[in-house]
Amino acid sequence: MKLRLSCLYTLTKEVSEKLVYPILKDASEVLERGAPPGEGAKIVGKSLSKDKLTVVIESGTYVRPHDAAFRLKNFLSQKLGKEHHVGVKEIVGKLYEIIFDVPATPSEEVKLPYAKSISFKGKTCTLILEDVSEEFLQKNTVDRMISLIKEKVEFQQYGTREEHHKIIYEGSTKPMHFTEDPSQELINRKWVKRTPHRNQFIFGPQITELAEAVKRAYVDVIYKPLGFVEMMFPKIVDWSIWKKSGHARALYHGGFNPYLFITPKTADPKAWEEVCDKIKITGEIPSEDIMDLLEPPRGGLAFAQCPPFWTYLEGETVASESLPIKVFDWSGPTYRYESGGAHGFERVDELHRIETLWVGSPDQVQEINLELREKFRVLMEEVLELNIRQALVTPWFMEQKGVLDESVEGGAGTVDYEAILPYNGSWLEVQNCSNNGDSYPKAFNAKAQKGELASGCAGGSFERYLSAFLAQKGFDPENWPKKFRKYITVIPEDVKFL
Ligand code: ATP
Ligand code: MG
Ligand code: ZN
Repeated sequence: MKLRLSCLYTLTKEVSEKLVYPILKDASEVLERGAPPGEGAKIVGKSLSKDKLTVVIESGTYVRPHDAAFRLKNFLSQKLGKEHHVGVKEIVGKLYEIIFDVPATPSEEVKLPYAKSISFKGKTCTLILEDVSEEFLQKNTVDRMISLIKEKVEFQQYGTREEHHKIIYEGSTKPMHFTEDPSQELINRKWVKRTPHRNQFIFGPQITELAEAVKRAYVDVIYKPLGFVEMMFPKIVDWSIWKKSGHARALYHGGFNPYLFITPKTADPKAWEEVCDKIKITGEIPSEDIMDLLEPPRGGLAFAQCPPFWTYLEGETVASESLPIKVFDWSGPTYRYESGGAHGFERVDELHRIETLWVGSPDQVQEINLELREKFRVLMEEVLELNIRQALVTPWFMEQKGVLDESVEGGAGTVDYEAILPYNGSWLEVQNCSNNGDSYPKAFNAKAQKGELASGCAGGSFERYLSAFLAQKGFDPENWPKKFRKYITVIPEDVKFL
């Protein structure tokens, strides 16, 4: 790694070379501090024009030039301030040249905002930044840009997500009784009906009872024996939460965008009067006028369900006796603006999901992970009698890095449970189960009284469970497994529409 920053210091007054250059010379000790001898940052060039001092700083792995630039700012302020009453008004990174190695030779162009240029010679990258502000330098943005370039190059090698999919379990063959698209049949029977909004359905009483039955089975098979208790997670998620959890990094999240939320700029009735009058007069919604009265997005609607849980543990130290924490949430729908055309009941924008979440020592988390994985298998194979398979996939927090951890038994990793849809032969992800390692506790500064804290989560939607179930078993309750039927109270009569 080689870094070279040409930094412009604007001083509060004109100074002379005679005054300032010796100070730069004396600064070398400060710029080397913390690095092995001779490996800290160095001043390799300087020029002065009135109140503008340009300093060129070079370094390798130790003491980044942008850190050095601030050390130098403090040093200059100290030396010039006391005796000569000169301060440093502003720093601007005029030209920042960063040369570093990437994991592979890139197969296509790498683009990044704020970069003047990014070029490669084999596995060596040269990143050029121009005119970067003091704040930009201070926030370690440069290090983040370097890691992002490395990630992008690595991601190019692994290609799409499909490649990180390794089948680790194939279930036994169960009877199938249906060959049609269950979404179509659900619509035909009016068990569900599309709403005016894309990929959204209203659940009629019959499908609602089946969803309730899945819930009851979930509690009976998984939560009761494993000691999980219920919580209610918020569904409106402030940016700050996704910034911490890492979900903000993926505002386009491989296949969907989050729904964002916007709030009014003002509650003043006067401000809203005209818009409301327009609606009253025309019966139409003056969308553009409304936009003028709204703030930019402040966050989004939950799409991964568990990030807003972490407010609960944020900044806390959990007592050993309270670990592991085992909870679940189905207090409300979550939202995804799914890409592509209209989807069926298995891919909705408003989805109803059960999220399972557990927190404990790394060992506790992995033990629960394995227990849950077995219980999900039991629910799907023995209660719902589904034809399923399990696949090891890249955990969401590693997705961007393109890493597939083969040793899921030992640490972080995600297992997907997929069921076959006989009508088109494709496999549908119904449930997943992840050991998330220490990523969440770290991000939300949650600690254990003793040792490390880790967490896991698992999600499965009623839409996916029921799409898979109805696709394989059909709509005749006679063909439904007894072990599942016992959770159904009674299927409400179809409502007759004339
Ligand atoms: P897929 O690739 O099939 O869309 P995903 O990888 O987006 O799935 P996850 O992000 O892992 O799914 O979400 C966890 C669970 O949430 C899934 O196993 C599934 O049960 C459910 N789910 C996700 N997206 C939807 C959706 N649009 N409609 C219904 N359920 C969904
Ligand atoms: Mg998806
Ligand atoms: Zn989760």
